[in-house]
Amino acid sequence: MIISNENIEKLKNLIDGANIIGVVSHVNPDGDNLGSSLGFARALRNYGKDTEVVGHDAIDNYLKFLPDLEFYENNYKDSYDLLLILDASEIDRIGDAQSVAVNSKKTAVIDHHLGGKITSDLNIIHPEAPATCQLIYEIIQRIGMPLDEKTANLLFTGIVTDTGRFMYYDTNRETFEIAGKLLDAGADKENIYSALYQNKPIDVLKFETDLIANAEFMGDRVFALASIEKVDQYGVQMGDSEHIVNILRDLEGISISMLVKEYGNGEYKVSMRSKGIDISKTARENGGGGHANASGFSIFDDSLESAAAKARVILQNI
Ligand code: 5GP
Ligand code: MN
Repeated sequence: MIISNENIEKLKNLIDGANIIGVVSHVNPDGDNLGSSLGFARALRNYGKDTEVVGHDAIDNYLKFLPDLEFYENNYKDSYDLLLILDASEIDRIGDAQSVAVNSKKTAVIDHHLGGKITSDLNIIHPEAPATCQLIYEIIQRIGMPLDEKTANLLFTGIVTDTGRFMYYDTNRETFEIAGKLLDAGADKENIYSALYQNKPIDVLKFETDLIANAEFMGDRVFALASIEKVDQYGVQMGDSEHIVNILRDLEGISISMLVKEYGNGEYKVSMRSKGIDISKTARENGGGGHANASGFSIFDDSLESAAAKARVILQNI
């Protein structure tokens, strides 16, 4: 248990005082993002609260097995009595839903990123938590909300993905205990593991192999580039590049991996992973954020070559 009694009490009061609640997370949702927002929304509905999920983008194929995706819709309300902002450290991370945050009567942030900068009525921010889903589990238990099978599956997925299958440094004793409780509550680990890690389309493997073959090694750093051209060539989604930066980080002698993803409209998303080196400061200095060993930021530029050149310099100077 890491959340203070005072914050649990404040959050309960905000929830109990709201008739309609919105739950939002960041754009380009990952497993912890969808797991925490869909899972908390489900628990809130089971607790008797009218709750909507404020979704933004297409969901990456590898996460399409999750329950409750039908609640992740784009036609959300302009405002809520309470908007819960999960797994996002800066307000621009929630994209177009920023106006909902402005219009909503109350807002609360529940997050585990370093250096959270969102102003709200209640900030529950614990960078020591390896996943927002771990915080949501604690909240559900301590407020006394129902934890059904689908909620358990959603939270388990977020914990597995954000801890790198219980491997990253911030995975703690409580993470394993909570995982056990989620199994008791009906999380189907076989289904989750096979959907996440044993279900890769061959075209995605070919795409990964191409990007890895073209990766540039610079001492203990490695740089890779995912262009829209390559995505189209292999008939995959940009989200399918998700694992490449992890695969490159895991190599012998590598301390930092970087992947630049071309998003179109001049935006290039930079994903970084590290072993033993804090890269979150570099991400923040470049307008992004994240965790000590997994961070990101965006570069806005006219061309892939120019964005890549800037990113290489940033990587070399960490
Ligand atoms: P990923 O590389 O998987 O996109 O992101 C790794 C981590 O860095 C995640 O925790 C993610 O939320 C964070 N992150 C990635 N891009 C950005 C960004 O542009 N701004 C902020 N604040 N965080 C980011
Ligand atoms: Mn997270």
